[in-house]
Amino acid sequence: MTQENVDVLILGSGPAGYTAAVYASRANLNPVLYQGGQPGGQLTITNDVENFPGYPEGVNGPEMMMDFQNQAQRFGTDVRTGLATQVDFSSYPYKVVIDGQHEITAKSVIISTGASAKWLGLPSEDKYNGRGVSACAVCDGFFYRGQDVAVVGAGDTACEEATYLSKLCNKVYMLVRRDEMRASKIMQARVMNTKNIEVFWDTETDEILGDENGVNAVRIKNKKNGETREIPVTGFFVAIGHKPNSDIFKGYLDMDEAGYLLTKPDSTATNIEGVFAAGDIQDKNYRQAVTAAGTGCMAALEAERYLAEKELA
Ligand code: NDP
Repeated sequence: MTQENVDVLILGSGPAGYTAAVYASRANLNPVLYQGGQPGGQLTITNDVENFPGYPEGVNGPEMMMDFQNQAQRFGTDVRTGLATQVDFSSYPYKVVIDGQHEITAKSVIISTGASAKWLGLPSEDKYNGRGVSACAVCDGFFYRGQDVAVVGAGDTACEEATYLSKLCNKVYMLVRRDEMRASKIMQARVMNTKNIEVFWDTETDEILGDENGVNAVRIKNKKNGETREIPVTGFFVAIGHKPNSDIFKGYLDMDEAGYLLTKPDSTATNIEGVFAAGDIQDKNYRQAVTAAGTGCMAALEAERYLAEKELA
């Protein structure tokens, strides 16, 4: 195994990781950033981003992430491909293994490994991803103004997305797999009181249908009587939860039952000194590029302060 020492190690290449990199490199901390399993993060599977400030005409997701990367590299961030596969935070400096073959000892670590949307696992979902299939209503809902869409899921996210879409779309069908929802009562009430949301109970998605223009219908199946039917929709939103990419930190970092890292109030500090968490890995509420970038900035400033206080840098 090869070995290397760094001052600031950043894991992940979404808005949080690259923003931390911009700040850390401008503070002369010589950060090394590993891009992880999905270079550029979740925004690379989005089409147009219209709600990131500073892009009045909107920007293509992958292009925006190249802008983030270029900005970080312009100030000297060492951006590398590779996935953190193991950590040891039990002794200082901290150890992180990349791709099972390169061991880094780091004086501070910024974790911005993000979260991944859960998918149903249908081949048609893959086929139409970005052409009608989405996991983010706030990102993509605008493209379905005045149209009919479906939302699958029954948690707070699904209710929130259905309510959000109901303000833009003509009709929103909610596909709920049981005869009740998991969402909080208030979110359910909001759904039930919205005229243009129709809930299908005991319903699973059989197939997402479409053609070269993208999605045009969804075939649903009633689990009680086995009946199938097609409903015409142009958008299909999957809102069945996210999985934070935190498995390798288990046993070291405090996390909630879903695996989101816990940070101190008004801070990105984790329970381990010098280890910070930014972006979706510690945020199940907002999940926006701009909020991730904000916490990435916080993490870099806190790492800088930590290293200065320790006189380690
Ligand atoms: P949840 O895990 O709470 O809910 C996931 C939902 O998806 C469940 O209803 C589940 O159904 C359904 N589901 C899972 N797999 C499938 C499948 N294969 N097919 C169909 N349906 C499926 O995730 P959320 O993202 O909704 O919420 C995560 C956390 O974030 C929660 O703690 C929530 O309270 C919180 N949150 C809070 C918000 C707020 O307060 N404003 C907004 C958004 C999230 P089943 O119930 O049958 O298991």
